[in-house]
Amino acid sequence: MKSFGEWASGIWNGLRTTFVGLSITIPYIFRRPYTLQYPEELPEIPDTERGLHNFKIDDCIACSQCVKICPVDCIRLAAAGKGKLARMTLFEIDYTKCLFCALCTEPCPTECILMGPTFDLVGYTRDEVIIDYADRDNPRTFSDGEEIPYPITSFARK
Ligand code: SF4
Ligand code: SF4
Repeated sequence: MKSFGEWASGIWNGLRTTFVGLSITIPYIFRRPYTLQYPEELPEIPDTERGLHNFKIDDCIACSQCVKICPVDCIRLAAAGKGKLARMTLFEIDYTKCLFCALCTEPCPTECILMGPTFDLVGYTRDEVIIDYADRDNPRTFSDGEEIPYPITSFARK
């Protein structure tokens, strides 16, 4: 049988720990919520974000430097012609593999491939997240230095 001292100590510990817990949680009632009602509300994206690529197709000279440096071989390109006359017929990035490491942007001599701000590419199949930036009829293709619409989710849900 517990002594009165043990009983009182148990009651005291119960009260004390309850008040310690409440002193942490109660202030949150008076703070603004951190939750964003995404996608209606969008977070601030820093300039350094490594999101989906921003590709300026008309500046690309099809030199394949980006393809060679990519550590996961997720870029495929094809072009008709050479040098300044080269015309891109395929510039495909497989976002099921891409690491968003930005290595492909480093060797590009014309700075036509950059990391963009878009982070929310989604799809029902893997093929839907393979983007051909040379396909101007593809609603997810953004080239010629256009700003990538943000968020991209609305395109993915089409
Ligand atoms: S960000 Fe990295 S993984 Fe993605 S395409 Fe560029 S080099 Fe490849
Ligand atoms: S490195 Fe730049 S110019 Fe060369 S193929 Fe890649 S995107 Fe085009």
